[in-house]
Amino acid sequence: MPAATGFRIVAGRDADRPPAPRFAASGPTTELSERTHGVALWTTLLHLGAPDGAVARRGGKVTVLAGEIYNGAELRPLVTDDSPASDAELLLALFEVYDLHAFRLVNGRFAAFVLDGDRAVLATDHAGTVPLYATVAPGRVCAGTEAKALRNAGPGLLLPGSRPVAGLDGVHQVTAGSVLEVNVVSGAVRPHRTWTPPVHRRVMSESRAVDAVREALRRAVRTRLGDGTPLVVISGGIDSSSVAALAADASATKIDTVSMGTTESDEFPQARAVAEHLGSTHQEITIPTDRLIRRLPHAVGAAECGDPDIIEYLLPLTALYRELSGTGRRILTGYGADIPLGGMHRESRLPQLDSAVAHDMDTFDGLNEMTPVLSGISGHWTTHPFWDRDVLDVLVPLEAGLKRRHGQDKWALRAAMCDILPRETVLRPKLGVHEGSGTTSYFSRLLLDLEVPEQRVHAAKRQVTEEVFRAVVVDGRDPDEVDITDVVRRVAAARPAT
Ligand code: AMP
Ligand code: MG
Repeated sequence: MPAATGFRIVAGRDADRPPAPRFAASGPTTELSERTHGVALWTTLLHLGAPDGAVARRGGKVTVLAGEIYNGAELRPLVTDDSPASDAELLLALFEVYDLHAFRLVNGRFAAFVLDGDRAVLATDHAGTVPLYATVAPGRVCAGTEAKALRNAGPGLLLPGSRPVAGLDGVHQVTAGSVLEVNVVSGAVRPHRTWTPPVHRRVMSESRAVDAVREALRRAVRTRLGDGTPLVVISGGIDSSSVAALAADASATKIDTVSMGTTESDEFPQARAVAEHLGSTHQEITIPTDRLIRRLPHAVGAAECGDPDIIEYLLPLTALYRELSGTGRRILTGYGADIPLGGMHRESRLPQLDSAVAHDMDTFDGLNEMTPVLSGISGHWTTHPFWDRDVLDVLVPLEAGLKRRHGQDKWALRAAMCDILPRETVLRPKLGVHEGSGTTSYFSRLLLDLEVPEQRVHAAKRQVTEEVFRAVVVDGRDPDEVDITDVVRRVAAARPAT
C-alpha cells in the first residue's frame, strides 16, 4: 500500500497550527510540524498503513507524497543516492538532481508537495488521478488531496493554470500533468506542464500495434500488483477482463475477482465466464437499488464532482467498494480504457472517432473519475492500469484505424487479448458500468415515477447531483446526513424555470 493516500498541508512564514482537516477518505491521520528556512510546515497525512514512507527530508528540503510511483526501477539509477528507501525519498533525490523537472520523469499515481526554502512545489501525476487542490495567499500556501479539506483555508488569490472549485472561494484544482511553483512569501505562482495527451498518431502494422498494447499493459498491471493477493473488479467486458487476465498471468497464486450487480441488473454470467477461465477466486455482490442510491452522496463527496453522468459511472463502484469484506485491499480496475480508445462512442467513421478521442483526452481533467477517494472512504486503494502513463503513450497515438478495425471497437486491445481470454469476452460489445448495473435506468425511473417528464430527466439528475455537491463538498456535510430520497423528491416537485 502507498505510505499515504492523502494529505492537507499548510506552509507559511507565520502559519499557526491550522484546525484539523476533514477528509471523505477514511483511515488514521498523522500530524507533523516542522520549520525549515523560516517557513513553518503543518502536515496532516491520511494513510492506510504506516505513514513513515510518505515524507522525506534532506538539506532543508521536505517532500510529502500521497500515492505511489510505478517506474521506480527506471528512476533509481538516475539518482546518486544509494537506494532511496521510499517513493518520497526517491522523489526528493530526483528533485535534487532535476529540480521540478523531476515530475516529467515520474510515472505514478500521486499528488506531491515539495518545500524548498521559500518555494513550494505542488505536483499532480500525468493524469491528475490523485486530485490536488490549493489555496494561495501572500505568506501562506495550503494544499490538499480533497477540496473539502481546504474549506477553512481562508481567502486565496486567483491561481493561473488551475481551475477554481465551484462554491469554495480561493480553492483551485491543480491541472493534471502539471506543477505549480509557488513563492510562499509573495504568493506568486508559476504553472509548468509535465505531461500532455499526445496529439500525434502513429502508423503501425497490426502485429506491432498488438504487441505494443499487450506489453505496455502487461507492465502496468505487474507494477500495480503489490504484495498481497490482488483483487480485480470485473464486469466481464474486455477492459476489466484484460487487467484480470494479465494479473492472473503475473501472479504466483490465484487472484481474487469480484463482480457487482443490483436488484435492477447485473453482468454476472459474463464475469463468471472470465473468472472460470482464469481460475480466480470469484465473488458476486448484489446491491439493492435503494441502498445503491443512498450511496450517491458518498460518491459525490468522494469524487467532489457534481456531473450527473460521471456520478452514474462512479456510484456503482463506490457502492461495491463499500461492500467488500476485509480492509486495505489493493484493487485493480479496467477503468478508463474507453477514453484513449474511443470505446464508448460506438462510432465507426475514423475522423469522428479520432475527434472523439482527442476531445475526451482534452476534457477528462477535473472530473476525478480515478480518484482513490472512491475506495478510500471504505479503506481500500484502487489503481487503473489503462491510465498508466506508458500505456496512454501507446494507446492514445494509435491511428484511428487500429482502434476501429474489422468491424470491432477497441480492436488493438481485443486482438492483444485473444490468446488469454475466452473468445466471447474478446468479442463482447461495450456495456458501461452505469448500464450493466442498472444505475442509469434506476435513477431515471425514480424521477419518472415522480412524474418528471422524460425530456427533463437528465436536467433533474443534474439538479440532484449539484445539490448534493453543495451539501457534502461546499458545506462539508456528512454524506450520511443527506437524505437523497428527499433531494430527489424536492427536485421532482420543483417546476422547471420557464
Ligand atoms: P466500464 O464503464 O464498463 O468501462 O467499467 C469501468 C470499470 O469498472 C471496469 O473496467 C471494471 O473494472 C469495473 N466494473 C464495471 N462494471 C463492473 C461490475 N459489474 N462489477 C465489478 N466491476 C465492474
Ligand atoms: Mg463494462
